[in-house]
Amino acid sequence: MKELLEQAIELGKEEIPLGEVASYIPELANADVKKIGIAIQDMQGNMETCGDVDNEFTMQSIVKVAIYALALEDLGLRRVLEKVGVKPSADAFNSIVKLEDDSNHRPLNPFINAGAIMCTAILKGSIDKRRHRVIELLQKLFNRDNVQIDIDTYLSEKATGDRNRALAYMMKGTGIMDSDIDVEKVLDLYFQLCSVKVTVKDLANMAAVLANDGVSPITGEQILSLKVNRVVLTVMFTCGLYDYSGEFAVRVALPAKSGVGGGILAASKGKYGIAVANPALDIHGNSIAGVRMLEYISDKLDLETF
Ligand code: GLU
Repeated sequence: MKELLEQAIELGKEEIPLGEVASYIPELANADVKKIGIAIQDMQGNMETCGDVDNEFTMQSIVKVAIYALALEDLGLRRVLEKVGVKPSADAFNSIVKLEDDSNHRPLNPFINAGAIMCTAILKGSIDKRRHRVIELLQKLFNRDNVQIDIDTYLSEKATGDRNRALAYMMKGTGIMDSDIDVEKVLDLYFQLCSVKVTVKDLANMAAVLANDGVSPITGEQILSLKVNRVVLTVMFTCGLYDYSGEFAVRVALPAKSGVGGGILAASKGKYGIAVANPALDIHGNSIAGVRMLEYISDKLDLETF
């Protein structure tokens, strides 16, 4: 396995010059483009790693998986579907052009910004309680208890988050977001959660839970219910890589979620949780080396879903 990961890293490195570090959030532009890592965990909890495995980066969109899962646990699929669709998007992750053009203007899916902001808005409890609950969930998913927010990234997101602000107010304007919701507080929490610091090891732990029907391979705890886990994996498969999800589905064929911090996690049901990271992004906002590494690993280990 170690050799396979080393080969994947070599392939990934070839892709780095073709990508660019995210710059629309100024703090993300400081990422070291040479940092590249992989971690893979099996269903017994054994982990193999390669590259810069202790390098920290922010979760960004990957946290949308945890926010969506918690919204589903809180409200159930039927009620969440009333507020957020599951339609793959041909537009960019921060697209402002359309909310779903059905009668109630739902955001297209929970993994584009509008949908994730909506999920943050419908979680149960006060804003503080929600932050606490999402962080608590992440701690279980990562199997460690000191999960932290990167304050500089959070402040940078907040200072430059006007597109996200516009999305949230548009949803309030159309009425899909309830009129009594405090948009600024919801956005503040969303920016904080996008700024949670992780390593590929954390994300491999999280992916392994998703691959193992919501159960931690290490502690045996059922962290996500079977039903929620199934829905989350399905939406990851169809919407996890923004408007690149279709091509990713044929190239890698695993449910996955990427973030503009350069991480991608992927779950191979009953087999492995995999995480890759490098901050050079393709035009869709996915780690360009990360996609290549996952394609290689999925092919070599014969993990393709279909
Ligand atoms: N915090 C980022 C934003 O809202 C998340 C984007 C992403 O990773 O797709 O723009």
